[in-house]
Amino acid sequence: MKKYLVIGNPIEHSLSPLLDNHWIKKNNLQAKYEKQKIENSQLKNLIDKIKSKEINGINVTVPFKKDIIPFLEKLSPEAESTQSVNTIYLDSNIVVGHNTDIKGFEFAIRDTKYDVKGKNVFILGAGGVVPSIIFALNHMKASSITISNRTQSKAENLKNLFKYLKIINWGKLPDFDMIINATSIGLDSKDKINIDFSKQNKKKFFFDVIYNPKETNFLKTAKSLGNDTANGKKMFIYQAAEAFKIWHGIQPETNQEVDELLD
Ligand code: NDP
Repeated sequence: MKKYLVIGNPIEHSLSPLLDNHWIKKNNLQAKYEKQKIENSQLKNLIDKIKSKEINGINVTVPFKKDIIPFLEKLSPEAESTQSVNTIYLDSNIVVGHNTDIKGFEFAIRDTKYDVKGKNVFILGAGGVVPSIIFALNHMKASSITISNRTQSKAENLKNLFKYLKIINWGKLPDFDMIINATSIGLDSKDKINIDFSKQNKKKFFFDVIYNPKETNFLKTAKSLGNDTANGKKMFIYQAAEAFKIWHGIQPETNQEVDELLD
């Protein structure tokens, strides 16, 4: 029986086991996928278990996507560019760290039919998921990417990875076509982002990385003002599907059944 894990802290609310075990069952694989709440001090031991094949693959979530890097033997170009790893596997006896959040985001946007090419994109947040979003937006040929974070130094640090980034103060709005909430504001359904979007003149695209709740106040307000909206559910499904493909060599289904599984 092959063993897969998602590690993080907190981890209780992770839907990754539900999704991966669904695909494991659908494909009749001899495998199980579990979640494990860990501390930093356990990272090395977990990677040793990948090396010894005791664990066959690991998904990494907040707050370890960067912290795990020193324990890995190789990074994919995507993981290297973003300094963020969410998928770990053994390749020819080498422990590799990869980033599937990038494709997760890109495929999710593709599904919405929104064309990022030539657009001015504004990102709220500078946490673990943001380098992947920036990388994907640049790959999709956004014309400009501006970010804003409560702790401005974290936004400034991202300029070390992405020189083309523009940064503005938290609470301010630049001119934009697409806006992404990549903060954790909204995880609680009462959360509100303290920015007034009502003075934006033309129709824009509001994307929230959060998918539980389905519609954050950020998306509710955007919709009531006549903008297009999408949540992060497809992003979550696609990043998991990419990891599944790497581990099992199978493209899992990302159909309505999967969509409903996560409701
Ligand atoms: P991090 O903990 O690394 O970052 C959290 C971010 O939220 C920081 O920018 C932080 O700002 C900001 N923030 C938190 N509370 C507040 C507040 N009260 N006011 C202003 N800013 C705040 O998390 P991640 O980057 O890993 O994840 C961010 C969100 O994305 C989460 O909601 C997560 O669930 C979601 N996510 C979704 C994925 C998907 O596939 N759909 C994948 C990964 C994440 P500061 O730096 O100032 O603390």
